[in-house]
Amino acid sequence: MSTHSSQDEAERASADGPSTAASDAGPADGRARILILGGTTESRVLAAKLAERRDCAVTLSLAGRTAEPAPQPVPVRVGGFGGVEGLADYLAAEKIALLVDATHPFATRISVNATAAADRVGVPLVAIRRPAWRAVAGDRWTEVESVEAAVAALGETPRRVFLALGRQEITPFEAAPQHAYVVRSVDPVEPPLAVADATYLTARGPFDEAAEKALLAHHRIDAVVAKNSGGEASYGKIAAARALGIEVIVVRRPPAPPGTVATVEAALEAVDHRLASRSASATAAVARGE
Ligand code: NAP
Repeated sequence: MSTHSSQDEAERASADGPSTAASDAGPADGRARILILGGTTESRVLAAKLAERRDCAVTLSLAGRTAEPAPQPVPVRVGGFGGVEGLADYLAAEKIALLVDATHPFATRISVNATAAADRVGVPLVAIRRPAWRAVAGDRWTEVESVEAAVAALGETPRRVFLALGRQEITPFEAAPQHAYVVRSVDPVEPPLAVADATYLTARGPFDEAAEKALLAHHRIDAVVAKNSGGEASYGKIAAARALGIEVIVVRRPPAPPGTVATVEAALEAVDHRLASRSASATAAVARGE
């Protein structure tokens, strides 16, 4: 679906079991091991930047939601860790020096787990979240707290609704079968929604404003439901809805983890800071003869 960049979308599509493409052995050359929790454009860009450095070795972790994940610039491990405990065990076993939570703003469980696991094993954590979109003049936004609240916000009168949500999030719309839905996702929606009128489109973003305008007009859409994911790649539908005067029901994002930065550049600075503190402690330990 198109609420996220193509990379975000690639992480949302279907489920695979855990697997590991990265080497299990830590680098024996003193490089700091960094684990990036990914599934977003930011995680891929950050990984590419860190891959250029000689002082760290990066592994990117994906949940395994997609049938064909996009290529990544660093070794990838795929699949859940098994909650806080599993992630804490992984951080300790792999001697991770720094954990970066670069997951999607709506991926709350893994972020809560990351904070708890990093705390448990004393690994520093840097979290990155792209800024949320803000309504501008001409936008017709109705902001809601959840997908269920978005269903209610559509009202009783039948409407033509574009669902710009992950395919795993659309089931609540079965509670409002009076509307006609257009659902776009990367992988097909299986099983289809139990509603009388639903059209399914499969496509991978990014989608620009002109293409989104054409799509909304073609399907005579009068309401868009979208999560406030932020970022450029999926903003086209928001701009298109504004241009066409269409209401957008915007699901507000959950709170960000503590100490979150907004950009890849800021995350790189935070990584530098953490790695500098790490090497200062190592130097001090050597000086103490430890
Ligand atoms: P979630 O609800 O926060 O996480 C559910 C479980 O999936 C976690 O408890 C964890 O399993 C596993 N998991 C999630 N992200 C992982 C990662 N990067 N590496 C390894 N395991 C991970 O997450 P979600 O909303 O299902 O999102 C899954 C992935 O899709 C995330 O990586 C996210 O960045 C990406 N994504 C999400 C959205 C969205 O709207 N939610 C949109 C675009 C992309 P264990 O507890 O077993 O460790």
